[in-house]
Amino acid sequence: MPATVIRDVQLIDLETATINVRHLFISEQGVIEKISSVLPADLEHYHIIEGKQRFVLPGLINLHTHLFGSGNALKTPSAPFLQGVYLHLLNTNLGKKLLLSRMKRNAYTELQTGVTTLRTVGEGLYQDIVLRDQIERGDSLGPTLVVSGPMLSAKDGHGTPFVARENTSISDYLQNGQQNIDRGADWIKICITGGVTDAKALGEAGQVQMKLEEAEALCHKAHKQGILVAAHAESTEGVRIALKAGVDSIEHGFTMDEEMIQLFKNNPKSYRGYSALIPTFSPAIPFANLSQEDLGVTELVYQNGKAIYQGILKGFQQALQHHITVGIGNDASMTLVTHYDFWRELVYCQELGGLSNQDVLKMATSGNAQILGIEDTCGTIAVGQTADLLLLDQNPLETLQALKHISLVIKKGTPVDKTHFRKLKKIDKLLEKMDGKT
Ligand SMILES: [Zn+2]
Repeated sequence: MPATVIRDVQLIDLETATINVRHLFISEQGVIEKISSVLPADLEHYHIIEGKQRFVLPGLINLHTHLFGSGNALKTPSAPFLQGVYLHLLNTNLGKKLLLSRMKRNAYTELQTGVTTLRTVGEGLYQDIVLRDQIERGDSLGPTLVVSGPMLSAKDGHGTPFVARENTSISDYLQNGQQNIDRGADWIKICITGGVTDAKALGEAGQVQMKLEEAEALCHKAHKQGILVAAHAESTEGVRIALKAGVDSIEHGFTMDEEMIQLFKNNPKSYRGYSALIPTFSPAIPFANLSQEDLGVTELVYQNGKAIYQGILKGFQQALQHHITVGIGNDASMTLVTHYDFWRELVYCQELGGLSNQDVLKMATSGNAQILGIEDTCGTIAVGQTADLLLLDQNPLETLQALKHISLVIKKGTPVDKTHFRKLKKIDKLLEKMDGKT
């Protein structure tokens, strides 16, 4: 790839919300090497991207994704015997190949729509690790992946058996956690509570499934190896256990009391002394704004979903009020959460949190990079940063809708082809019904 210059582009400084026209120079290795207001006369050796009238932002980081699904309702079998058959088929060479190719397509869609880095938090058969390595080697085009491999859950717990491994004791958790690390996981994902999609009783979505001692032992072991831990937790008790165990990020969250608020901010057992909250509104908000008929779910799932949404919302608002670190991720692959709609999660956070566009754009870029611990190379536009950039026709400080139609995505200095792009019309229609209602 030749060295590139993006000229005359309106550079947005997300720290100060100021805009200046600049020329961005990108090295052959895809790193930003100079930001200047002066353009040299001789640009012969540069590939030139015209930035005039366009705005430039750092690429977005999606902190909570799954790549196995499309956003259509999941159709995996629930009867144990059929689950066994399905899992067996998936675990063949052909099964894994099909799964990987679907994940690859979904990751590429995320990239085409502005997500240049994403964290997976629960995939089957370690295929997220395979895909991460393919992308890193340059064999496949996609966002930079930070991966967890399969989740670690209790017996019959959240996400089992397809995207989570079952555990019945502390030693199980330690052994399976170590296996994830040895196979190359960047994070460990645990499930402290049940989830909406697989709950079998009203209120079960937030029921505690993992013991404090189990989570604590696993955090300790992972942290000793420099690996951080993310925890699915959808009830007050679940979040409390996760925080006490020392997890580094709480996924979804719930209403908190004072003890929990303090633990988020000062968590001695976490790796960096604090824990972050990733609320994930995209799969939850339809329960509050669409009918059971629209969603096509059972009464049980509908009622569980509504309760979880209220808890996530309360936890998020408390976190903002108490200056807890909050990241943004949309739980892509869950029902109604496609791989091309990450901008919606920013809009939800902005509206539900009473935040400015500047606030949420910072959270989805430099803030998320800090939570991942990759802020030295990712999340801002500065010399030495990877050239993961978005060119926009509208000013995103004025409207987040600017992210809906990104003019050009640049990954490591290379423009991303936007032509092949599959939309799910039924889902788009339902989501448009909610627009402006949140
Ligand atoms: Zn998830």
